[in-house]
Amino acid sequence: MTKLADKIWMNGQLLNWEDAKVHVLTHALHYGTSVFEGIRAYETPHGSVGFRLRDHLQRLEDSARIYGINIPYTLDQMIAACKDTLTANGLKSAYWRPVAFLGENGLGVTPKGDNIKVDFAVAAFPWGAYLGEEGLTKGVDVCVSSWQRAAPNTIPNAAKMGGNYLSSYLIGKEARGRGYAEGLGLGTDGRLSEGAGENLFLIMNGKIHTPPVAASILGGITRDSIIKLAKADGIEVIEQALPREMLYLADEVFMCGTAAEITPIRSVDDIPTRAAGPGKVTKRLMTLFHGLFNGTTEDRFGWLDPIEAAVPAE
Ligand code: PMP
Repeated sequence: MTKLADKIWMNGQLLNWEDAKVHVLTHALHYGTSVFEGIRAYETPHGSVGFRLRDHLQRLEDSARIYGINIPYTLDQMIAACKDTLTANGLKSAYWRPVAFLGENGLGVTPKGDNIKVDFAVAAFPWGAYLGEEGLTKGVDVCVSSWQRAAPNTIPNAAKMGGNYLSSYLIGKEARGRGYAEGLGLGTDGRLSEGAGENLFLIMNGKIHTPPVAASILGGITRDSIIKLAKADGIEVIEQALPREMLYLADEVFMCGTAAEITPIRSVDDIPTRAAGPGKVTKRLMTLFHGLFNGTTEDRFGWLDPIEAAVPAE
């Protein structure tokens, strides 16, 4: 395994990278019973910050709640674990990967009683532009996948659960195999849902459209941030079910997520968007979003969580 950082926080201890191991009979390895998050820490003119750290860890807790999994740490403890992992690795900006999972002591699909161990770990490592640096300036080419997102009342899309990513794996693999940067999934009703690991936004006549949370999406924290930033900037945002063909008619299309941040889409199914790359509204949103971290956008929603607070006094 390529070493990405020196230390990993696991079950209350900062371990060396090589020592952060699990047993081969770990429940989550067999059945996908893990909940996880992807969170970014940014270096700003005022020091390092976690972006919506508490909101992400709340979603982690919510994902676990859907499955009746009790993570043996409080929100504050998990926040401290993330911050400690960042500082222990000497990182100023990074991608955090907290994960809680059903561990050892039971290989039955439905674990009995409290016997099964819930493990919690956090890794922090540098991660650049998820869909490539060039994509941020030129936009990426995507396709609609032949794989649909999980139907409602099957596997809950609102939970960021390890097992959900089998859908993302298939959508992303098919798209990359066909030469596209990413794949978009439709819901089982044939309407737009989201990318393999990103939410989807369309801009038509200066208004922003995005599929609603009921469209088999993960309710992204970047999605929520963009909606709030856009509304505060006077741009109308409409959350509603969207037919596939809107992808080909929109002026601008972009995807967003913690890893992908705001990634403009240049073409869908080989049809260029009208802007054929980042358009005016997408660029404005990128400026507002990245402005949070370079100091040009006021943090009016209290999204930036300083890391320094966690550094223990010498
Ligand atoms: N949808 C899926 C399937 C994802 O994996 C992600 C990335 N976590 C997102 C949307 C975007 O969510 P967020 O903005 O909270 O990272």
